[in-house]
Amino acid sequence: MRKKIVAGNWKMNKSHQEGMELLMQVFKLVEEEEILLEDTEKKLPEIVIAPPLILLSDAAGLIQAWEGKIAAQNCSSEKDGAFTGEISASMLKSINVDYVIIGHSERRNYFNETNQIVAKKIDRALENNLSVICCIGETLAEREAGKEFQIITKQIEECFFYLDAPTLKGEKDDGSLQGGELRMVLAYEPVWAIGTGKNATAEQAQEMHRYIRSVISGKFGKEISENISILYGGSCNPQNAKLIFSQTDVDGGLIGGASLLAKDFVEVIKEAIL
Ligand code: PEP
Repeated sequence: MRKKIVAGNWKMNKSHQEGMELLMQVFKLVEEEEILLEDTEKKLPEIVIAPPLILLSDAAGLIQAWEGKIAAQNCSSEKDGAFTGEISASMLKSINVDYVIIGHSERRNYFNETNQIVAKKIDRALENNLSVICCIGETLAEREAGKEFQIITKQIEECFFYLDAPTLKGEKDDGSLQGGELRMVLAYEPVWAIGTGKNATAEQAQEMHRYIRSVISGKFGKEISENISILYGGSCNPQNAKLIFSQTDVDGGLIGGASLLAKDFVEVIKEAIL
């Protein structure tokens, strides 16, 4: 069965103190849920938190002690060297980060990240045994022009079709990658839905997620396409998460605004209980 994941992307919000408080609140509520689920067959989704950089080191231990995973919101496309202000994938690994979000539309828009840069970042992350949450999504203009499938296909092809199946599965035996689970999670985030309060309908999400799975299948085969988790992102909240997460090809969500309030975030997490 595919892994359900709910990931909170805090973006550039929260001071160190506020962030640590939010984490404690989230995991206290999660613990209460866990107690309620104790004698049932049900399971919480994997919980991933992507706080700002200044919190990563202190938050990693805390999140992992609660059996959650920690994500960075970005990493450099370069290995190391004179790149002032950048943080490399190997530095993230050195503080036990689990995931890196790569290709978020805000990075693509405000920092001119192309599919080619996204591909380089994915390379850096994978060679450092980090898992990747790769974001893809069309703009409103692209959807209105009926080009959403074309755009998504291009993003997928250019961002990671150069990889091979063993790399995605973490099976390479060259010492640089661990075996085990898939190293890539996809997040379909229609740009017009991010931070706008205007989410994709459950039908739109399902249609695109199914399409993405078929594109992955064509390149990497059925095993990977059936096992890759595809998250929905874009104004997901406690009111709409249930319907969106109940779609066959939606495996959880990447949550921005609603991850900044512990109660809302945990309400969203609860909608991904299986
Ligand atoms: C995001 O930034 O990935 C996101 C989905 O944001 P929001 O939930 O605020 O739309």
